[in-house]
Amino acid sequence: MERPDITPLADIRARIARAAAIAGRSPAAVELVAISKTHPAERIIPLIAQGQRCFGENRVQEAQAKWPALREEHAGLSLHLVGQLQSNKAEDAVALFDCIHSLDRPSLVTALAKAMDKAGRQVPCFVQVNIGAEDQKGGCAIAEVPALLAAARDAELPVIGLMCVPPAGIEAAPFFALLAKIAADNGLNRLSMGMSEDFETAIMLGATHVRIGSALFGAR
Ligand SMILES: *Cc1c(COP(=O)(O)O)cnc(C)c1O
Repeated sequence: MERPDITPLADIRARIARAAAIAGRSPAAVELVAISKTHPAERIIPLIAQGQRCFGENRVQEAQAKWPALREEHAGLSLHLVGQLQSNKAEDAVALFDCIHSLDRPSLVTALAKAMDKAGRQVPCFVQVNIGAEDQKGGCAIAEVPALLAAARDAELPVIGLMCVPPAGIEAAPFFALLAKIAADNGLNRLSMGMSEDFETAIMLGATHVRIGSALFGAR
């Protein structure tokens, strides 16, 4: 039931803490990335006022239009890219974002490494995995993850973990568990997984970054 005295942000924070506690994990080990795509600055500012500092966008151009002004007004913001990235936008992405969740192919490794070199700025990346082997879905095929990680290592790209968006409409837990296993097999300990509908499950299976949009901002 809706509790008018509890903001969506406070509710999500409490649910994150509860899921972490059940899993024997510290709530501080789970970063809430508030996905503000399609929402204007007026909707974002109240969350900043409640202490939220980490936000995510899925389009470089939209983020460029919204975030420089917000950053001038509010200190300590961290901006994450969660959408597909075209190689020709790599420089823009490196200039604007503090973390990239959608590294999914060798050509993007090359483009991002070049952009980071040029900018003199290291932006941590997650390799996005097409965990349900869906034709229409972004992300690297599971079988290609080791090669992509090797390419990133060769290019000295800072890869910190794996990210996934499981198939819609079926239980997400097996896909989260599989992503966690692939990460462990490859010596990675951060997992960007879990959205509005399934973040508690993701936290219990090891998510370190949950990407939550509609549960915070309402429907898009
Ligand atoms: C939009 C989006 C989210 C947030 O989804 P909600 O269901 O609104 O919480 C998370 N991750 C990615 C990659 C997205 O594009």
